[in-house]
Amino acid sequence: MKDRYLDFVNSPFGMSLARALGLPKPEVLRRHRPGVAEFGGMAAIGAGPSPQLLDQIIGVLRAIGMTGIAHDTAPGWLTLARAHGAMTGRFEPHAADTADAAAHRVDALLFDATGITGSSELRSMYAFFHDGLRSLARSGRIVVLGRSPSSCADPRIATAQRALEGMTRSLGKEARNGVTSNLLYVTGNADIEGALRFFLSPRSAYVSAQVVHIDGPAAPVPGNWTQPLAGKRAVVTGAARGIGASIATVLATQGAIVTGIDIDAARDALDQTMLSIEDMSPSDGAHAALIADIAAADAPAEIAAALLASGGVDIVVHNAGITRDKTIARMTGDMWDSVLDINLIAQERIDDALLGQGVLGAGGRIVAVSSISGIAGNRGQTNYATSKAGVIGRVQSMAPLLRERGITINAVAPGFIETQMTARMPFATREAGRRLNSMGQGGLPVDVAETVAWLASPGCANITGNVVRVCGQSLVGA
Ligand code: NAD
Repeated sequence: MKDRYLDFVNSPFGMSLARALGLPKPEVLRRHRPGVAEFGGMAAIGAGPSPQLLDQIIGVLRAIGMTGIAHDTAPGWLTLARAHGAMTGRFEPHAADTADAAAHRVDALLFDATGITGSSELRSMYAFFHDGLRSLARSGRIVVLGRSPSSCADPRIATAQRALEGMTRSLGKEARNGVTSNLLYVTGNADIEGALRFFLSPRSAYVSAQVVHIDGPAAPVPGNWTQPLAGKRAVVTGAARGIGASIATVLATQGAIVTGIDIDAARDALDQTMLSIEDMSPSDGAHAALIADIAAADAPAEIAAALLASGGVDIVVHNAGITRDKTIARMTGDMWDSVLDINLIAQERIDDALLGQGVLGAGGRIVAVSSISGIAGNRGQTNYATSKAGVIGRVQSMAPLLRERGITINAVAPGFIETQMTARMPFATREAGRRLNSMGQGGLPVDVAETVAWLASPGCANITGNVVRVCGQSLVGA
C-alpha cells in the first residue's frame, strides 16, 4: 500500500507546505538500488581507550571504498590507517546548519567502544557524538562496537558495555533524517565484516536501534559480495506475495536457487512470483514453486522430500504467517489453533524433518519471521503475539544446539511493513503503526527481505540466536 503522506511531503509543493505548517517530514530512505554504489564517502572514527577493532574496521572500510577520518578520541587511527596505506585525515567538528558543516558531511559515524572498562570512560562516546552527529549526512549510519556484557567477568566492564545500548538507541531517536544507529557486541576478534557491511549499507535502511551479537569462528568471506548466495539453495514459506515474495526475490538476486512454498489458494500468485524471479535471475528452471499448507500433517515430509530431490537446502526461511485478531474473550478456539499451528508449530515440525533427515546440513541457515507484536504484545492479538514470541524462544533455544552442527538460526521481527496484511488494518491503527517510529513511515517488504538475506549469507556464520527488528525503531516494544 502506498504511503501518500510520505510522497506528498517530499513533493516540491508538499515540502514547502510542511515547512510552513511545521508538519513532520519523513525522509525518503536511501535503499539499495541495482547499479548504484552502496558505499562511498567518509566515515568519522571515534574510540574509547584501548580500542581493539580498529584494524578490522580499516580493513572493511578499505574493502568497501570508504575513507575513515579520525576524531580526537581515536588518535591511533591516523597511524594505523597510514600503516595500511589507507587514505585518512582528521575529522573537524562544524556548527550545525553552516555551509562548512554541509561541505564536510560524513556518511557514517563509527565508534569502537571495545576497550572501555568503566563507566567514566563512556565520556569519550559523548565527545565523539557531540561533535559528530551534526555532520552526519541524511540516511547516514551510526555503528557502535562493544563487548557483550555477558562475556565480561568484571561487573564494572559489563556495566559500561551494557550502557552502550542506551546511547545507541537514543542516538537513533535524535538523529532523524533516515539515519540508523546500531550496536554490535563482538566477542574476541570475531570477524565483523559481514555485519559492518550490512549496517553501513542502504540495505539496512529500516533497521535501527538493534543490538547484534557477533560470536564464534571467523565468517568465511564470500567470493563476490554482490552475489553472496551464489550456489546456495533456499526455501521460503509464504512466498506468493508480500514479505515472502520479496524475500524469495532478494535471495535469488543474490545468487540463490529458490523454492517458494504457498497454499493452493495462492497458486496463481506463487507462479507469478516464481516466474518474475526466473526472469530476473535465470536458473534454467531450477527456481521452483511448491504448493503446501505448512500446517498440514504431511507437509514436513512432503517439503523434505521435495528439497531432498533437488539436492537438499542451505537456507530455510520461515515466513508464512497469518493473523486472526480478536480480544481473547471473543476469540474462538479455531482462531487460536490456526495462528499457533501456522506461525509457530509448523516451523518446529518442518525443521525437525529437515534437520532429522539431513536435508539442511552443516553451514545451513534458518531465518524465522517473528514480529514486534511478539516482543511487545498487542491488544486483540494474544494468539499472534504468543506465536511470534514463541518464534523468538525457538531461535534463542535452538541456536546453541545447532551451533555444534555449524548451522545458524536467527529471527527478524518486522514492525509496520506495507503489505496486504497491514492494508487490511483500520485507518487509525494503520496510521499509528506507520508513524510511531524514528523513521516516521512504514517499512517495505524489501527491508525485511534484505535483512533475511544478510542473516542467510556466509558472512553471518558467527551470528546466531539473534532477533533483529526491522521496524525503523518502532516506539512499540523494547
Ligand atoms: P501476507 O498475508 O501478505 O503473506 C503471507 C503469505 O503466507 C501468503 O502468501 C499466504 O498465502 C501464505 N500462507 C499463509 N498460511 C499459509 C500456510 N498454512 N502454508 C503456506 N503458506 C501460507 O503477510 P505478510 O505481511 O507478507 O507477512 C509475512 C510474515 O511477516 C508473516 O509471518 C507475518 O506475521 C510477518 N509480519 C508482517 C508484518 C507486516 O507489517 N506486514 C509485521 C510483522 C510480522
